[in-house]
Amino acid sequence: MASTIVRRLEGKVALITGAASGIGESTARLFAKHGAKVMIADIQDDLGNNVCQDLGQSSASFVHCDVTKESDVETAVNTVVSKYGKLDIMHNNAGIGGIANPNILENEKSEFEKIINVNLLGPFLGAKHAARVMIPNRGGTIITTASTCSIMGGGSSHAYTSSKHGVLGLTRNIAVELGKYSIRVNCVSPYLVATPLAKNFFKLDDEGCHGAYSNLKGVVLKPEDVAEAALFLASDESKYVSGHNLLVDGGFTIVNPMFC
Ligand code: NAD
Repeated sequence: MASTIVRRLEGKVALITGAASGIGESTARLFAKHGAKVMIADIQDDLGNNVCQDLGQSSASFVHCDVTKESDVETAVNTVVSKYGKLDIMHNNAGIGGIANPNILENEKSEFEKIINVNLLGPFLGAKHAARVMIPNRGGTIITTASTCSIMGGGSSHAYTSSKHGVLGLTRNIAVELGKYSIRVNCVSPYLVATPLAKNFFKLDDEGCHGAYSNLKGVVLKPEDVAEAALFLASDESKYVSGHNLLVDGGFTIVNPMFC
């Protein structure tokens, strides 16, 4: 018997930052497969345009956008609206890892600021400009890619952990504010995912973990695993989910070391 594919985002319009690579790219591919029109926003123009070409002109477009620049974010949102008529899904996904140095005495202010700017200021600007066009429509969903670092300390850089904790606070605050307009705001928080970011940061390969992180028993997610969670938050199936931090971590963050 032929199976029917349910297109869970039919008629929806999505803007995804950092969609030229990794989790954002997988999410763009999955959203398009489910019927959404997708605007890919990134600083890597060639990679972003390649993803669009793969998806086809009727499904995807690219806009250059540095999420730390308000004028870029404003233009990206305006471009989506002028091309597709509206914005239903804003996925603030772009992020950087930076240097994993747990010694605070060696952490430079400039490195801290750089990571906070991309990982926290970026989602703030994305949410602000999405809200600008979603409020008059009385609806929409804003998703931010946070991390298990949004609820845990240690193991990563001070700036990265701070940025991801900040994103969770930002998400909750905006969810409270925008609920009255039927706009939902959530985080998706992955554990280690095999993307260029994590491969550089943790010295991973596609099959597992290496070096200092080999004690994690080789567990590493694929970008597609995170995209599925973002799809749930983007779709109407999560219509009563807001202010939530959806952990995609295989239970990593609930382990009590006393019993292991
Ligand atoms: P990635 O490097 O594959 O993709 C990140 C994308 O963001 C790239 O295309 C990059 O060009 C883009 N980007 C970087 N700076 C930008 C800027 N200023 N403006 C616009 N785009 C910019 O990495 P990824 O792992 O797919 O990361 C996506 C998100 O997932 C990030 O927010 C990251 O913190 C988060 N995350 C990743 C992991 C992991 O293990 N890979 C785990 C938890 C959370």
